[in-house]
Amino acid sequence: MVYPIVKFGDPVLEKPAAIVTQFDEELRKLAGDMFESMYAAHGVGLAAPQIGISKRIAVIDVTFKEDPSAKIVLVNPEIIHTEGRLTSNEGCLSIPEFREKVTRARRVTVRAQDLEGKTIEISGEELLARALLHETDHLNGKLYISHVSALKRDIMKRKIRKMMKQGEW
Ligand SMILES: [Zn+2]
Repeated sequence: MVYPIVKFGDPVLEKPAAIVTQFDEELRKLAGDMFESMYAAHGVGLAAPQIGISKRIAVIDVTFKEDPSAKIVLVNPEIIHTEGRLTSNEGCLSIPEFREKVTRARRVTVRAQDLEGKTIEISGEELLARALLHETDHLNGKLYISHVSALKRDIMKRKIRKMMKQGEW
């Protein structure tokens, strides 16, 4: 099932999501629906709050369907190691039409659980590192715009408010 993507302005995006404790059929269905919703929206990562579900689960596929083995499900993820810096353009399905340069770690290791509840560790660099950080941020109620300058963030928020008023958001 494809869920509509929740956009910036919805409070679900800015509160920490709840820890997942049930590793059941419902969770597996949610992960499947999240991949479907992410692909439908042409994204490479999606966190559950972005479909209005405040649970600590995110999906990532930086190859966008090209490599089925690149599909990642993160349940209750935690960043345990970061290394280096890399500045690159970043966007978010919940903040469509905007992209900003964001400096993040170049290499990242995340500890999470899989859909069976087993502890896993995933390391990535560059785009994958960025996705791991971006999606983990989402589960903590944090958006990528918190990593851009206050000035740029204000400009974005002003544009978004204007679009909201015109019913274009
Ligand atoms: Zn996002």
